[in-house]
Amino acid sequence: MRITNIEVIELRLPEVKEQCDGTQDSLIVRVHTDEGIVGLGEIDTVPSVGAAVVNAPYSHTMATGLREILIGRDPFEIEKIWDDMYWKTIYYGRTGPVLHTMSGVDMALWDIMGKVLNRPVYQLLGGTFRTSIPAYASVLMPETPSEAAALAEGFLRQGYRAMKFGWGPIGKSERLDIELVKAIRSTIGPEVELMIDAGLVWDRKTALRMARKYAEYDVFWLEEPLPPDDLEGYALLSEQAPMYIAAGEQDSGRKAFQRLLDEGGIDILQPDLGRCGGLTEAKKIAYMAYDRNTKVVPHAFKSGISVAACAHLVAGIPNGFTLEYTMSESPIARDLVRTPVSLTNGCIEVPQGPGLGIELDEDIVTRYRQN
Ligand code: MG
Repeated sequence: MRITNIEVIELRLPEVKEQCDGTQDSLIVRVHTDEGIVGLGEIDTVPSVGAAVVNAPYSHTMATGLREILIGRDPFEIEKIWDDMYWKTIYYGRTGPVLHTMSGVDMALWDIMGKVLNRPVYQLLGGTFRTSIPAYASVLMPETPSEAAALAEGFLRQGYRAMKFGWGPIGKSERLDIELVKAIRSTIGPEVELMIDAGLVWDRKTALRMARKYAEYDVFWLEEPLPPDDLEGYALLSEQAPMYIAAGEQDSGRKAFQRLLDEGGIDILQPDLGRCGGLTEAKKIAYMAYDRNTKVVPHAFKSGISVAACAHLVAGIPNGFTLEYTMSESPIARDLVRTPVSLTNGCIEVPQGPGLGIELDEDIVTRYRQN
């Protein structure tokens, strides 16, 4: 079997608002083979930049586009292909958009392998640790406590037993930051898990002060309270904050995650499978965390492709325990995948079909396609 083409599809809603919402656009990758099997992946980057990383013609041995590297290759050579993609882009890669784009291509190769072998991807990762995974509802923090409470109530009604609110107004006013969390906790009661994603907004002392205040409302983890490069700040915070500190969605490549663990003291690593280097790299990151008795919760705020990939990863590693499920109403998040991952009693059932076990809705692709 040989790879014959890498197709990139840029999706974008007609109206994109000024907010930190990754479900307003996406970059889908389809890896085609000479046997007619097509692998599907999703890239979480600026879509036109990721498309350029695939389409770029050969410049020199360490600067080329990914299509040039993959055409004619056996998709089962997944580690060798990953290594080639890394080295043949090293002048302009190593992290950022190149690693993001490699991630989606890698995801598609795992999908191909599963389809050829007629097995779900999690089984190829080396074993089944779980097939029913508690999911947490993940949403942007609204502007007012009453809106936050109403959202929380809706998630409860849908069966979620854990939820995360993030970004939005957080960081503008400490009083409001506390009122928002207080309103959510008083709505959901003591049993439901609550996570807060601060969205990179605080300095070290503010983050520690807020962590202590949030502990009064039993916040299970505090996510990205500091800028991603403030590893010294993360180390201080992890040492002193009462709850778990989570981070990792901004990073690509296992060395960045090693630094988060060893220099930042991060409690919960959050590799995004469309950014970190794909399933191949995420498995290495997960075991690096496992060696340090640390958990992994993959970040996912795109379409059902990312959700499915995360479900397979968490099913196939020892130190996964929950899944992020975006509550965004964007049709890219809601409708792009024709067989959405199903939720029962707050748990996602890992797709059992071959590969990632999902199919695209071609009408949605046509409606939002930009290229
Ligand atoms: Mg986050």
